Amino acid sequence: MNADAEALRTVKDADRKHVFHSWSAQELIDPLAVAGAEGSYFWDYEGNRYLDFSSALVYTNIGYQHPKVAAAIAEQAGKLCTVAPGFAVDVRSEAARLIAERTPGDLDKIFFTNAGAEAVENAVRMARLHTGRPKVMSAYRSYHGATTTAINLTGDARRFGNDTATAGVVHFWGPFPYRSPFYAGNETEECERALRHLEDTVVFEGPQSIAAIILETVGGAPGVLVPPAGYLAGVREICDRHGIVFILDEVMVGFGRTGTWFAAENWGVTPDLLCFAKGVTSGYVPLGGVAISGAIAETFARRPYPGGLTYSGHVLACAAAVATINVMEEEGVVEQSARTGAELLGPGLRALAERHPCVGEVRGLGTFWALELVRDAATREPLVPYNASGADNAPMAAFGAALKKGGLWPLLAGNRIHVAPPCNISAEDVAKGLEILDEALAVADAHM
Ligand code: PMP
Repeated sequence: MNADAEALRTVKDADRKHVFHSWSAQELIDPLAVAGAEGSYFWDYEGNRYLDFSSALVYTNIGYQHPKVAAAIAEQAGKLCTVAPGFAVDVRSEAARLIAERTPGDLDKIFFTNAGAEAVENAVRMARLHTGRPKVMSAYRSYHGATTTAINLTGDARRFGNDTATAGVVHFWGPFPYRSPFYAGNETEECERALRHLEDTVVFEGPQSIAAIILETVGGAPGVLVPPAGYLAGVREICDRHGIVFILDEVMVGFGRTGTWFAAENWGVTPDLLCFAKGVTSGYVPLGGVAISGAIAETFARRPYPGGLTYSGHVLACAAAVATINVMEEEGVVEQSARTGAELLGPGLRALAERHPCVGEVRGLGTFWALELVRDAATREPLVPYNASGADNAPMAAFGAALKKGGLWPLLAGNRIHVAPPCNISAEDVAKGLEILDEALAVADAHM
């Protein structure tokens, strides 16, 4: 056995014996063993290279192994690996300043967490304490994380296995022109109906009992759901009229993903609390947080905030955040993400839809897109049923296998492929990815 084959066996054996994997039946999975990664690619022990159109879990916004961020983490580790969250320390102050300067409006204070779900948990806690109200409203088509409150706020099927009916969570339908539960007319009408439905839900639940409405600015896991023009402003207005805290969950879409620092900028809307994670460090060291408005920060000016985490604002993570944000600024990554969407990914994906009858819709912006694959373009019947597995999911499994065979690592969800490469992917790699997609879509066409 050569050295690579032996290394592969060691990794796989220990993984199978000792690693308990997320969201999986442990004996039914066979994870790919990754040997290394750089830029928009990672590779396995057998020399297969994959163009990563998933950015890991939509977080390597500047690609893998950016030398400046890796060096900043190493330098910080050599200087000071950790200090308790109660102290002021240079990299934490700097990370908070850089983030606060980029968030919209007066979201000027940053509460650091280790990841996205904890950001959601703390944003909900802040909203409840600020308003003195118990309920929180979220969209059915949403994902907010896997901790207790976050998974119950999550509207998609991942909630089912966890549903403890956490008191006070109320779900509603957001706009989704392609698969609207109201009426798939025009976008303006869709937006008005969705806002009326939300207003009615608020009124019938009792506004005096509702602490917050939480929304993904652009629904990520549920399918790159880009809101129609007036929707977020309409939700802002409903919140203001009823004294409800507006939380935007930008865990997936913050830090350049949609071609702006934060997705809310695309619609000129400012929430009261904004959750972030993932892209803030390109995932090199786990970090998340909540950006807090002046009014909510004031609630805790003379009254202690009853929440905290041992590793809140961990210095290695903050060093990674400072370096990541500086790299994004110096290399124009946010602008590049916008340009790539407008000039390469958008037109390229739409051209694929013209050629492949299985593509029902293309939607997205920046480096954040989804294709809906359908059995029938007229009825929009999905290529596989909602929450499909096993034989029901065979068409999507075949499509995924064709992509991997072509050298592209896809992010598949239900009947969709999400196209979310690093925000700084090169034009050459976009073209290469589109070519691989073109070939694999022929496999999906055959399943119509
Ligand atoms: N909110 C959104 C919008 C997300 O996409 C995710 C993760 N995909 C989370 C929250 C949870 O983040 P984490 O897994 O870091 O806890």
